[in-house]
Amino acid sequence: MNDTFGRPIDYLRLSVTDLCNYRCIYCMPEEGVCKRPHAEILSIEELAEIARAAVQCGIRKIRLTGGEPLVRRGILALCRTLRAIPELRELTMTTNGSLLPQMAGELKAAGLDRLNISLDTLDPARFAAVTRTGRLEDVLRGLDAAERAGFRGTKLNAVLLSAEPADIRPLAELTRTRGISVRFIELMPMRQSLTLPERCFVGAEYVLRALPELIPEGTDGVAALYRLPGAAGTVGLIRPMSCSFCSRCSRIRVTADGMLKPCLHSADEIPLRGLHGEALRRAIQSGILRKPAQHTLGRTHGSQARREMNEIGG
Ligand code: SAM
Ligand code: SF4
Repeated sequence: MNDTFGRPIDYLRLSVTDLCNYRCIYCMPEEGVCKRPHAEILSIEELAEIARAAVQCGIRKIRLTGGEPLVRRGILALCRTLRAIPELRELTMTTNGSLLPQMAGELKAAGLDRLNISLDTLDPARFAAVTRTGRLEDVLRGLDAAERAGFRGTKLNAVLLSAEPADIRPLAELTRTRGISVRFIELMPMRQSLTLPERCFVGAEYVLRALPELIPEGTDGVAALYRLPGAAGTVGLIRPMSCSFCSRCSRIRVTADGMLKPCLHSADEIPLRGLHGEALRRAIQSGILRKPAQHTLGRTHGSQARREMNEIGG
């Protein structure tokens, strides 16, 4: 269905947990988050019920996210259930990739269509510093495991944390031989990321400076696409800060505790928990109709969302 600004809304980002095995410096506090009582988080059955109702409201693509979706117990069963919804065109997941070495094959068999893997640097020491608890080799093995399991069109998302070509080029060079898309994303000012120094907020134009040979290749959703000459894959720029793409927004989000967020950066939330059938569909439709024209994010004023990114899912 369309929102009040005529935008077709067909994409749901469904957060399945706010827990994570990493503590990325821009996303989560070092000590992690307080583990909520089990009952506060949507069950696998509730997640599936919300997804089905969303599809009845016109959603055609669902992305599972978190926290880290692969630490959620029952994630494979959820994938199987969602994949069985006939009208759903695409089922995808955003993951930090660390558990893909063990899980990529099972995820493929459960019906997941595509993966976005988050990876901000190919420098092992910087990777450990950014994720606080992660090991680069796990994610690289995860990327290989995904390829071996038959995942195609994988996107690798890198939050830009520095203007240094030494951080940007090695990631882009992965596209030379792999048919993946490496997408650089501008850091957004949320509660946690606002604790980082100003120099971490880097505009995507630094990618173009670091890689002057990039050839423009149109757009894919919110990403402007480029290609290194002769490369198998593409380089994308996602610019929530320097170039708003709200006019093309097609998304709604549901948090792991069952709140529908019409916009990533607004405080507005609609409770879905406990609703069923027509009442649930009406709540989802009202969320779509409450989507604002655009977010009000800027470097001087952070996100209005009252949650960290690990609670919303990106
Ligand atoms: N744990 C999974 C992962 O890291 O891919 C899924 C959840 S994570 C919150 C989703 C995405 O949000 C990741 O790609 C992460 O890099 C991105 N992210 C988190 N905080 C951000 C921020 N302040 N600005 C831009 N992207 C952010
Ligand atoms: Fe975890 Fe993803 Fe947040 Fe990093 S960005 S702390 S991997 S949820």
